[in-house]
Amino acid sequence: MKKYKVGIIGATGMVGQRFCQLLDRHPWFEIVVLAASPRSAGKTFKEAVSGKWKLADPMPEDLADIVVMNATDDVEKIASMVDFCFCAVDMKKDEIRALEERYAKAECPIVSNNSAHRFTPDVPMVIPEINPDHIEIIEAQRKRLGTKRGFIAVKSNCSLQSYVPALAPLMEKYKVTKALACTYQAISGAGRTFETFPEILDNVIPYIGGEEEKSEKEPMKIWGHIEGGEIVNATEPVITAQCLRVPVSDGHTAAVFCSFENKPSKEEILQAWKSFSGVPQQLSLPSAPKQFLHYFEEDDRPQAKLDRNLEGGMAVSIGRLREDTLFDYKFVCLSHNTLRGAAGGGVLLAELLAAKGYFD
Ligand code: NAP
Repeated sequence: MKKYKVGIIGATGMVGQRFCQLLDRHPWFEIVVLAASPRSAGKTFKEAVSGKWKLADPMPEDLADIVVMNATDDVEKIASMVDFCFCAVDMKKDEIRALEERYAKAECPIVSNNSAHRFTPDVPMVIPEINPDHIEIIEAQRKRLGTKRGFIAVKSNCSLQSYVPALAPLMEKYKVTKALACTYQAISGAGRTFETFPEILDNVIPYIGGEEEKSEKEPMKIWGHIEGGEIVNATEPVITAQCLRVPVSDGHTAAVFCSFENKPSKEEILQAWKSFSGVPQQLSLPSAPKQFLHYFEEDDRPQAKLDRNLEGGMAVSIGRLREDTLFDYKFVCLSHNTLRGAAGGGVLLAELLAAKGYFD
């Protein structure tokens, strides 16, 4: 596999730092551009992240002297230096939409962690194990944009990266009709640490702006299908969600309730989870977990602190499956929000796109 030259737009942010960490010594991707706001542009990466490096592991040393470029002023220059870019920026939605389209139109494919384009009908929103076929919509998007190489592909919100994978293997055979998810979300999802978010200690905050809507709506696009140059959203299962911020550094937990048209036995659900694998596993993509869904028999698992880093933070942990009085079943699941739920999910999507030739 040839090494692709990669840029990170928003490299100095929390998700950007995760990209730096995951791409350092990646077998297929080589970081050649780091870009951020005018506040960071012109500084070395080491200077730009000084005092705001948020990960437990130190900054990759070989990135220290790279001079940060201006993500909004240097679009054409950056596009000429890379094969594609990851994007995770904190800007207004309409600004992000426009910025990502500028890169795409400059023939620079964008793999985005931002929500701005998630509901653009010809932009694929992909969890690579679940809807890898949605990347085929890129041809229609390129036609609309008038590009040969450039396009935008996005990953979905971190809140749903545990329960959508858990429900996915049950959809076709047993037909999930409705699901209720209460999420318990880590503070890194807000770009915060315990140092910068002291009011979360000894506390639960029952509101995360926009999160419940995303948690209910985005799965419908992921379970949708391509028709006439766009992705048509699924209409079932009906999902209702409640999202809480909890004093956990990393790892979003979800308590899930679900009902089926053809109710499976508990053993059938466990078997479906155990045997579930997708294109990333079949293609042995470098960031793919070997076993995507792990079931824990212990009553007190999964736990964010113990289980979030399973398979490099790319696997989903599930536990406590049991029958329910109002729904058919209930269970608890967990995924790492800045790995599988953000940068790791973006890297896996990029690996899928690379393997399928979309960056050539
Ligand atoms: P963050 O830590 O606040 O980082 C924001 C990044 O955007 C920084 O690199 C910043 O550069 C850059 N930026 C800000 N204004 C800019 C401008 N005008 N032009 C160019 N670059 C600009 O945010 P984050 O938590 O990494 O989140 C980034 C994106 O990922 C957001 O859209 C967020 O919704 C999404 N996301 C986050 C998570 C998560 O778990 N945190 C999960 C999924 C998706 P400077 O350092 O120079 O200011």
